[in-house]
Amino acid sequence: MSLKPQALPSLLGYTADDLTKLLKEEHGQPAYRVKQALEWIYQHRADSVDEMLNLPAALRTTLKENFRLSPVEFVRVQGSEDTTRKYLFKLHDGRYVETVLIPASPALYGEKSDRHTACVSSQVGCAYGCKFCASGLDGFTRNLTADEIVGQLMAVEKQAGRKINNIVFMGMGEPLANFKNLNKALDIITGHWGLNIGARHITISTSGLAPMIKKLADRPQQIRLAISLHGATNDTRDKIMPVNSKWQIEELFDALHYYKSKSKKRITFEYILIKGINDDLEQATILAKRAKSLGALVNLIPYNTVEGLEWVRPSEDHCYKFRDIVRNHGVTTTLRIEKGHDIDAACGQLRLKQETADGKIESK
Ligand code: SAH
Ligand code: SF4
Repeated sequence: MSLKPQALPSLLGYTADDLTKLLKEEHGQPAYRVKQALEWIYQHRADSVDEMLNLPAALRTTLKENFRLSPVEFVRVQGSEDTTRKYLFKLHDGRYVETVLIPASPALYGEKSDRHTACVSSQVGCAYGCKFCASGLDGFTRNLTADEIVGQLMAVEKQAGRKINNIVFMGMGEPLANFKNLNKALDIITGHWGLNIGARHITISTSGLAPMIKKLADRPQQIRLAISLHGATNDTRDKIMPVNSKWQIEELFDALHYYKSKSKKRITFEYILIKGINDDLEQATILAKRAKSLGALVNLIPYNTVEGLEWVRPSEDHCYKFRDIVRNHGVTTTLRIEKGHDIDAACGQLRLKQETADGKIESK
């Protein structure tokens, strides 16, 4: 099948304002047509413009000639119902993107188990090159567009036949390095005319792009923030996260205090425990103090082995010790110890091998 790099733009990247501009200003349509089109796109989830029967035939023809609906093509799913499922989608330029669907585990989060979280990718690859992370291993390919971000969610809902309740931007890529497209996608996801998912159900995870954290804080709706901290001091973070040389912990925390001044929502620190790298118990004490200064929650995650990297997780015993130190400082702390290698499907473990397997795209 031939690839179409110049594919038509997708309507899934259109906000209510964009569509108003398109239909009213460019095509002279009355305002109610905008509402009808939005309903077809985001509520009825039309697969084709042909379904939009209450739009005039001439408008349907124009839309069909100039736009498509979903920008992502479902390729396959791994995992089964009630477990974590990983969806692979193909993009118009032959790239691939993965989205993970996670059923809530009441044991972990105390949530009802019928709630599902989608872990969304924001880029193909990642330029930030954290030394422990699969997503950064092959470098950065490109940003996802707003429609590709929204398209992942809509396609997962279609494939799974259920609504997504929570969204975490913890898939492949650094969402805050793709701020413009992320921002538009957030408008569509939260818009009452769009996917209508409340901002409190959305979490952006970042490795620490301080200026962008401030920009996110300035959004009118308060999106939740998770920081991939993984080290409580500059020395430790410097060893594993190149981003720390750009924005050191002090600058990062400045931005976090700014975020806190704007948002009532508590920040979460993600902290992977890697044996001999960042699991020193002294780090636990400093981490606890830093979390306290912000009223942040701490999420400890034993390292998941990544093919091609030698690092391993500490013993369970050590993980509990680390957790207890943080907890004893009065910080709400969770420690997720996953069983077996279900991890392949976990967020933060996304690495695309498909492109080279296809033989269509040169390996970089
Ligand atoms: N770039 C953003 C969003 C990706 S989130 C960020 O870094 O926050 C992906 C999460 O999975 C991050 O917290 C990341 O640190 C974590 N992660 C990456 N590799 C992992 C591994 N091998 N084991 C466990 N968590 C990992
Ligand atoms: Fe990129 Fe986040 Fe992985 Fe770091 S942890 S390489 S920022 S995806």
